[in-house]
Amino acid sequence: MGDKLRNIYTQFPGGKYKVLTLSYDDGKIEDRRLVEILNRYGLKATFNVNSGLIDQHFKEYYKERIPMSEYKELYKGHEVAVHTVTHPTIARSPKEQMVRQIIEDRSALEKVMGYTVRGSAYPNGSYSDEVVDALKACGIRYARTVRSTGDFSMPEHYLRWHPTCHHDYQGLEDLKKQFVSLSKSQYMYMFYLWGHSYEFEVNNNWNVIEDFAKDMGGRGDIWYATNIEIVDYLDAAGRMQVSVNGDFAYNPSAVSVFLEVDKKTIECKPGVTTEL
Ligand SMILES: [Zn+2]
Repeated sequence: MGDKLRNIYTQFPGGKYKVLTLSYDDGKIEDRRLVEILNRYGLKATFNVNSGLIDQHFKEYYKERIPMSEYKELYKGHEVAVHTVTHPTIARSPKEQMVRQIIEDRSALEKVMGYTVRGSAYPNGSYSDEVVDALKACGIRYARTVRSTGDFSMPEHYLRWHPTCHHDYQGLEDLKKQFVSLSKSQYMYMFYLWGHSYEFEVNNNWNVIEDFAKDMGGRGDIWYATNIEIVDYLDAAGRMQVSVNGDFAYNPSAVSVFLEVDKKTIECKPGVTTEL
């Protein structure tokens, strides 16, 4: 029979078990100030933007939104993701329109960014089973809702990915403290903050995100990641081929995967078999 069973767990990169991610929508000019704050403290975010609200037909919006020519430089190190072309309440749209709203936004963003765009957030928080099907058909791997969990659970369904909370949530300070003090490494924890950068301007509360970034940034036990980095890493972890006896593992992906084996962190390098 086999050797003694060992506890083998997936870890985040670097052997971490906490991840922090942010998601900000609509691509308005206040993103410039937000990105500057995030970059100062090493936080990573996903920016969900509408490629169709920046052209001549929507002149009234133009002034408030970041021109696409600025995306590549501004959002460097972060992720740009689909938020549909013109921000409809998409669950009310005919399916042909759903598909165009998704795939044409994706196409426009890929042209500008030079990488595949595989994430999204639901405009007006609107979704349905049909929208989820349309996203899948368009090669979108995840979609964020506006339904806050108030906790640090990992998403059960990437295409219905519920965030922890909006930045205006009353209990934000408590959540920050809780997340920092988490110490049970047998779980994986995700803190997922979302909002719109223009809300800081409208509500005159830039201090909320300044404090958040300062308090949460620069911590050695937190992985700072964009949404798609989390999905891609966990996909790679899910592809790990571990022997029945748990004494070796083959990593068929192109990135390192970290496993905890009897409380010890082991880096499984890409394309090779590692002794555990
Ligand atoms: Zn939006």
